[in-house]
Amino acid sequence: MKVLLLGKNGQVGWELQRSLAPLGELVSLDRHSTLADGGCGDLNDLGGLRETVARLRPDVIVNAAAHTAVDKAESEPAVARALNAAAPGVLAEAAHAVGALLVHYSTDYVFDGSGTAPWSEDAITGPLSVYGQTKLEGERLIAAAGSRHLIFRTSWVYAARGGNFAKTMLRLAQERDRLTVIDDQFGAPTGAELLADVTAHAIRQTLRNDADCGTYHLAAAGETTWNGYARFVLETARALKPDLATKAQEVAPVPTSAFPTAARRPLNSRLDTKRLRHTFGLTMPDWQRGVQRMLAEIL
Ligand code: NDP
Repeated sequence: MKVLLLGKNGQVGWELQRSLAPLGELVSLDRHSTLADGGCGDLNDLGGLRETVARLRPDVIVNAAAHTAVDKAESEPAVARALNAAAPGVLAEAAHAVGALLVHYSTDYVFDGSGTAPWSEDAITGPLSVYGQTKLEGERLIAAAGSRHLIFRTSWVYAARGGNFAKTMLRLAQERDRLTVIDDQFGAPTGAELLADVTAHAIRQTLRNDADCGTYHLAAAGETTWNGYARFVLETARALKPDLATKAQEVAPVPTSAFPTAARRPLNSRLDTKRLRHTFGLTMPDWQRGVQRMLAEIL
């Protein structure tokens, strides 16, 4: 089996390099990869993407690349749309032409964040931001292309590698006596490791059973706010490393309005993962498990 991975150096892409490796021959590309290197990995080069898929004829294409700068997308919607909508649409057409399964990631930001109930896959969408809107357009173009596909909508992704929310909180806690963190957005921090491992399981099953294609919500179990997440990070870090020099004695709760941003974010980012768990026979671990593990790795 041949697997083509795009966006190999992102949070999720990096973990996919590990989790997809046992599935077969893995061709991993990033935005700098060219046809001369064995495949074009630049989502802005639609012709290059088409030619790459036609030449490699992969059994599975996993697209972990995207325009993920949520606030920046507000001022460059055409750039975000090219990466989050046009490119996945072309990948889906190219996948269809060679009979490949396309795996793609989307977001809780396709929803408007109203209410308190976890969103099901069939819930009505209503993105509040350019990022959410372009990711939704990407989902629709994939569905319209007619390829077999898996779309995983996830939330609040973190990884040990690179910058992340936990690292920012740990740094601020060393610099300040008091942190103020938003406490009215609800969701589940989800590790790139979990996303990658579930992706590999789902690919294996879907290749045996086309009926399992479709859109799934994939997030760690439980829920918190950014404030609860920050407090958990600091408590866990202090327990793991008692000599950690943190000054912050308080993580004060503030509303979203305290930190104005270019993009509006949903207050309710809870995702209902029942369909994923039942279809693939998987259990989603509590969000704390993965965050604790990530902290143990980085501290
Ligand atoms: P990252 O931002 O970590 O990775 C995105 C990758 O896309 C980067 O490696 C980036 O490369 C690459 N990229 C950007 N522009 C291009 C381009 N023109 N051609 C090729 N590659 C490009 O994102 P995540 O790993 O966190 O996200 C993975 C998926 O999950 C995305 O689809 C995202 O929308 C979705 N998601 C993410 C969430 C999050 O909280 N991060 C939440 C919900 C969904 P470079 O590093 O060179 O810029």
